[in-house]
Amino acid sequence: RFITLEGGEGAGKSTQLRRLSAALAARGIDVVTTREPGGSPGAEEIRGLLVTGETGRWSPVTEALLHTAARRDHLERTVWPALESGRWVLCDRFFDSTMAYQGYGLGLGRGLVETLQRAALGDFRPDLTLILDIDVATGLKRAAARPGGEDRYERMDRAFHQRLREGFLDIARREPERCAVVDADTDADGVEARIRAEVAARLDL
Ligand code: C5P
Repeated sequence: RFITLEGGEGAGKSTQLRRLSAALAARGIDVVTTREPGGSPGAEEIRGLLVTGETGRWSPVTEALLHTAARRDHLERTVWPALESGRWVLCDRFFDSTMAYQGYGLGLGRGLVETLQRAALGDFRPDLTLILDIDVATGLKRAAARPGGEDRYERMDRAFHQRLREGFLDIARREPERCAVVDADTDADGVEARIRAEVAARLDL
């Protein structure tokens, strides 16, 4: 099984990924956690190109291509081998982030991002995508409060984050069988409980 976690800034993806991974492991499931951009040596190198240096270094199309190239390497080296050996893979961000950030946020549009994903991945998709949804102001406040921002390229412009949030919700509306929207506007325990309920219901656990 391949499960992805998605959401804007400050939605709590990393915390929830750790918690879900622990819960699955406690049930005896062999689970691997990984992240994008990155998750394999080559993809981490590409991540370095994306997240260090000044914002605006790459055009939106180039940015989408770099994310997609990193994704292909991550799949080849990390995700597909793990799935083939029967493990579950939990991934912090996947192609919905490229759609939301570059497609909706930076205005590339759905068509181009879809074309790139199809070219790089074929029909491969997550079995389940959990979209952590949070009010933009709350998310940005949480993101700003956390330590260690130097390897991040967060765009703090409010309108961008609003497009991002609406993009994720639109993705979920278009693919309701794959995507579950989880209200992330409460404490971590509450969000964890909602995530567990979705995983149990949708993956027959
Ligand atoms: O998941 P995390 O928040 O650590 O992601 C790192 C950064 O990469 C995010 O702050 C986000 O702004 C950025 N990103 C992006 N486009 C993507 C994926 C991530 O701009 N497709």
